[in-house]
Amino acid sequence: MASVCVFVETAKGKLKKSAAEVLGEAKRLAGGGDVDAVLIGHGVSGLADDVAALGASRVLVTDDDAFGHFSVDGFGAALSKAVATSSPRVLLVAASVVGKDLAPAVAASTGSALLADVTAVALNDASVTATKPIFAGKAIANVSGNTPMVVVTLRPNVFEPATASDGAAANVESVDAGVSKADLRTIVKEILALASEKLDLTEADIIVSGGRGLKGPENWHLIENLAEAVGGVCGASRAVVDAGWRPHDEQVGQTGKTVSPKLYFAIAISGAIQHLAGMNTSKCIVAINTDAEAPIFKVADFGIVGDAFEVVPVLTEELKKLRE
Ligand SMILES: Cc1cc2nc3c(=O)[nH]c(=O)nc-3n(C[C@H](O)[C@H](O)[C@H](O)COP(=O)(O)OP(=O)(O)OC[C@H]3O[C@@H](n4cnc5c(N)ncnc54)[C@H](O)[C@@H]3O)c2cc1C
Repeated sequence: MASVCVFVETAKGKLKKSAAEVLGEAKRLAGGGDVDAVLIGHGVSGLADDVAALGASRVLVTDDDAFGHFSVDGFGAALSKAVATSSPRVLLVAASVVGKDLAPAVAASTGSALLADVTAVALNDASVTATKPIFAGKAIANVSGNTPMVVVTLRPNVFEPATASDGAAANVESVDAGVSKADLRTIVKEILALASEKLDLTEADIIVSGGRGLKGPENWHLIENLAEAVGGVCGASRAVVDAGWRPHDEQVGQTGKTVSPKLYFAIAISGAIQHLAGMNTSKCIVAINTDAEAPIFKVADFGIVGDAFEVVPVLTEELKKLRE
């Protein structure tokens, strides 16, 4: 029995970045004790050594063609079965699109408390405690779970990822979820991915976001050039997405994506509360705005009061020189 168990996510035959984050936090919580990891999918057994290299003492694998695509009933049943084998005090899951669907299902089926989208977690004798932003990031709540197992989802990009050690061989146990394709109530037939291979905003270390102050989509080369210069990805405010200048998958905020990159550029974005809700846990925020009173400056670590059309090209050139 391990005190901490994690669900590791995979995509396109690889572990997702969040796998290293949940394992990094699991090892810290376990304080040198064992950590179990659960791997579910079709053709995922070969990833068990990668999971062990990130610090899992035991890898519980459910590998079956019923799990070729994520479905909450299938993965929920498989993960509930695996945690019955592991009997952990805490189950850690990334607060990703999949994790936000899966964790509540497992919490409900195992009668466990759920602490969702947390930015810090601690394991105490009597309870599991965590902190999480609430009311669109206006306040931080301290929450605790007192059930025998507590399910916790970790906000992506907040927790220190585990680093892989060489040559780890996994202690693998196969778990039969007792689920076949015929048992699934929802079947994902096909996933239509965007043609581009761009990194998802929630996984990016650097995001360059633009707002309505950029006047139109024809000026987006300013954002794209800066993003390229710093190795980042492009984001946008809702005003920009609603205007059809940028696709919805780039929207940051309450009704867009919640991101926590190492570096976030907010360019010609006012900093409305709904935008801040999606990015105010970024580690370093740089704001560029003509209005010195814009609310974005209240959360910015660095601010430039100036015209983005003048500032951004100069900044891009200077940052390019630094990277040469
Ligand atoms: C229920 C609800 C959900 C919402 N969800 C989201 C969400 O998920 N994400 C989100 O972003 N918003 C969301 N909003 C909308 C939000 O309230 C704001 O309307 C939106 O964020 C404004 O976008 P903006 O900052 O780009 O535009 P504006 O508020 O118009 O700000 C433009 C900024 O650009 C500056 N500027 C102008 N010209 C220049 C220049 N040349 N150089 C530099 N700066 C310049 C201006 O000073 C201004 O601060 C939501 C609103 C509601 C009601």
